[in-house]
Amino acid sequence: MGTRANRQYCSWCFKKTKHEKIQQNYVRRNVYQCSKCLERTLHCRVPGCDEMARGHDIYDDERCAYHSGLIESWGQRPPQPSRWCSWCFERTDHRLREDNSLPGRRNVYECTKCARRTLPCRSCSSAHTRGHPTYDDEKCAKCDGTIDSWSRGAEKLQQKVARKGWCSWCLENGPHLLEQKNSIRRDIYHCDFCLGRTLPCMSCDTGMTRGGPGWDDNRCGECSGDVDDWKKAHQHREEVLVKTPWSVDVAREQLERNSRFRSKALEAGMIRPFLYLVSMDPFMRQQTATQLGWSIFTQDYFGDPHAEAWDIINSNIKGIQARTNNAPETLIPIANNCNWYETLYRTGKEAFHEIDGFEKLSFSKSIAICKQSSDKTLSKFEDWHTLQIGRLQAAHMAKAGIAQVDELMESE
Ligand SMILES: [Zn+2]
Ligand SMILES: [Zn+2]
Ligand SMILES: [Zn+2]
Ligand SMILES: [Zn+2]
Ligand SMILES: [Zn+2]
Ligand SMILES: [Zn+2]
Repeated sequence: MGTRANRQYCSWCFKKTKHEKIQQNYVRRNVYQCSKCLERTLHCRVPGCDEMARGHDIYDDERCAYHSGLIESWGQRPPQPSRWCSWCFERTDHRLREDNSLPGRRNVYECTKCARRTLPCRSCSSAHTRGHPTYDDEKCAKCDGTIDSWSRGAEKLQQKVARKGWCSWCLENGPHLLEQKNSIRRDIYHCDFCLGRTLPCMSCDTGMTRGGPGWDDNRCGECSGDVDDWKKAHQHREEVLVKTPWSVDVAREQLERNSRFRSKALEAGMIRPFLYLVSMDPFMRQQTATQLGWSIFTQDYFGDPHAEAWDIINSNIKGIQARTNNAPETLIPIANNCNWYETLYRTGKEAFHEIDGFEKLSFSKSIAICKQSSDKTLSKFEDWHTLQIGRLQAAHMAKAGIAQVDELMESE
């Protein structure tokens, strides 16, 4: 722990804390991370002020909480309104994340119970609406008619707005939780079992379709013929999973096994991600596929980890390679599919903008690295990725927990 002198007030958690430099910039301000709340922080731009302003995903505040008028002095906290939450249906505190002084714009909060984005309801003063990545609801769950009363209890309300149905992702007949209430288009849900995005099928009452960023299927697995019969498909899934239960030994066996898929992965310079996928338990492999837009549980090859892993990497439209080939910065047609080095480089560049210590290499240089098992470059590059992602995730996951611990400490 440093001395009091090199600590600054944090505009996120309002404590005097140490801020660790995570990005050195020469033109823009350096970026720090608060050691207590793990949020992104930057020096306040007001001359003579030593305290830290908030940093956000796409922009950074110019001034600290004091100089922007959010608080009247350090040692204070802005009020946290206690309101009903349209996400978790609890009456709870909402922590301020963005203060908007522009007319017609609302402040953005985060529910201290469920950590989701919320905003004050435009029709009542007792609740917060749901906020989404690209837009925010105008009305709370009660004012828009999703529920008739807050006082029924959070669990009952959750059940009431959930929808039961067969999931086209994971083949489970379970509850789907409401994500987004729509008046003209269909409501959007996520499967409670596999977390995939789902919508009610347009042709039946029993199935839920798949959806993803920018696309939603109209018909469920059974109505589109992807699945012959829900019950049989579910049973087949269970049999395969029971027949090949995951264990360290099974993973080792699969890692050592040769197959034509393995040879293809090696040839393509994708042997490392192939082996990661092969060593995962089938549910994690399914979740990876779900994030990329399809399901392995409904494929004929389901049950063969090598075939599943290769399809995730190679599937022309939706696999990891195709996704990277289509990244905006690579609109110029490229002769080869991305190898693992290029994939790490491009995704790293897109997600974190600056890559320390790794250069853009020609295809022939990078494929040589990918095929050379004694080369340590790739494992170092993966470590770099893990560290960056870990930072982001720790920051996001810790927030709700930290907010609650803060409350406890202060009420002591
Ligand atoms: Zn902080
Ligand atoms: Zn300041
Ligand atoms: Zn909530
Ligand atoms: Zn309302
Ligand atoms: Zn599911
Ligand atoms: Zn259907």
